[in-house]
Amino acid sequence: MSSLLITNAQLVTLDEANRFIDDGSVYIEDKHIIEVGESSTVKRTADRTIDARGNIVMPGLINAHHHLYSTFARGFTPPGAPPRNFEEILSKLWWKLDAALDSEDVYYSALLAVMDAARAGCTTIIDHHASPSCVDGSLDQVERAIRDVGLSGCLSYEVSDRNREGEGIEENERWIRKCRESTDGQMAALFGMHALMTLGAKTLQRCADAGHALDTGFHVHVAEDEIDVRLTMERYGQRIMDRMLNFGITGEKSIFVHGSQLDPGEMDLLQSTASMLVNNPESNMNNGLSVAPILDLLGHGVTVGVGTDGMSPHLISQARAMYLHQRSEHKDPSLAFGEACRILLENNRTIANRLFRDPRGALAPGQLADIMITGYVPFTPLNADTFYGHLLFGLSFARVRTTIARGRVIVDEGRLQHLDEDTIRARCAERAARIWSRIH
Ligand SMILES: [Zn+2]
Repeated sequence: MSSLLITNAQLVTLDEANRFIDDGSVYIEDKHIIEVGESSTVKRTADRTIDARGNIVMPGLINAHHHLYSTFARGFTPPGAPPRNFEEILSKLWWKLDAALDSEDVYYSALLAVMDAARAGCTTIIDHHASPSCVDGSLDQVERAIRDVGLSGCLSYEVSDRNREGEGIEENERWIRKCRESTDGQMAALFGMHALMTLGAKTLQRCADAGHALDTGFHVHVAEDEIDVRLTMERYGQRIMDRMLNFGITGEKSIFVHGSQLDPGEMDLLQSTASMLVNNPESNMNNGLSVAPILDLLGHGVTVGVGTDGMSPHLISQARAMYLHQRSEHKDPSLAFGEACRILLENNRTIANRLFRDPRGALAPGQLADIMITGYVPFTPLNADTFYGHLLFGLSFARVRTTIARGRVIVDEGRLQHLDEDTIRARCAERAARIWSRIH
């Protein structure tokens, strides 16, 4: 059994007591935290000791909605006139890019994105995947990338009828069964669907039946743009969340993504079914769309999380975007600061802990040893009252020195020592150029 000791750290435990320990230590055996406390009281010797003198050490971050396949879109401009609305963003960019990926592209795009996530202190990723040219087995390629880096991942394939009716149903079923057979708890599964706007009634019923037979939650975009709301109303005479409820898609293990156009009744429905809603403010703004009314959703008692939606590996900056947007939207400088931080640190933890076996998101005995050691040394007092200020104005720009996932040092002084980063980046550059030439 391996052991690891972090000493001399400024610990932000985020545990039930919300302890801030100025000179603290964390002792880890195998993949779990065994002891947390003042360095003078944690009397342990370990295979390796990391001196985190003065640096903030806190739980690894959780990304509640990602698209790892989107990596090779960076810098790509679709041919022709720029997309003018959400439908054109999908058809001209994303549906061309995902269709151009082969199986190895899926692996390498995920690998690079997971490496970047680890370097940004993220240790758990909830992903939503699409690669229509290589559907079968594609989630195994994403899994391979996550396991090669060493993080935890919850995967799903986004079923839609846009290329072939019901595309991706069997891949979700296969993946969910595979996860059930795995004993290490590193990977988890949800039944993925793209959005109601690309799912006919027959396919939605098949997804619901398959998900219920496997007793799993779902992961689906809802009301990202007004068009999803309008098409659902025109075709079925229903609001989106009413339709989700009718098909049994709601529930405490289901993640609904975006929710920018939900009405108050739909917010109540999310709350009453204990469903989860994940917002991605930078992505919404990038697409020229409304950002979900976070404060309204919280007011209705909804469990709101935050993700990157493939925009970047940086999660604290999503919480920053979330509160900045709310203040600008409401023209009120008193709003959303604490809420955005709690969404990132507490609600994302709640979401992950509904999906994975090992509890995570706090520095406490029995928790999964997912930890980030930042290069940030606070120059003003650090305590429970000031931490969110340090998070949004300091840690959001700080380098992550070390990332520990499942008890293993993944990023060591900024490097992923167990991977040949230069070769991986060179392969990705070759593959990206080939993909771009195919879709231009
Ligand atoms: Zn998304």
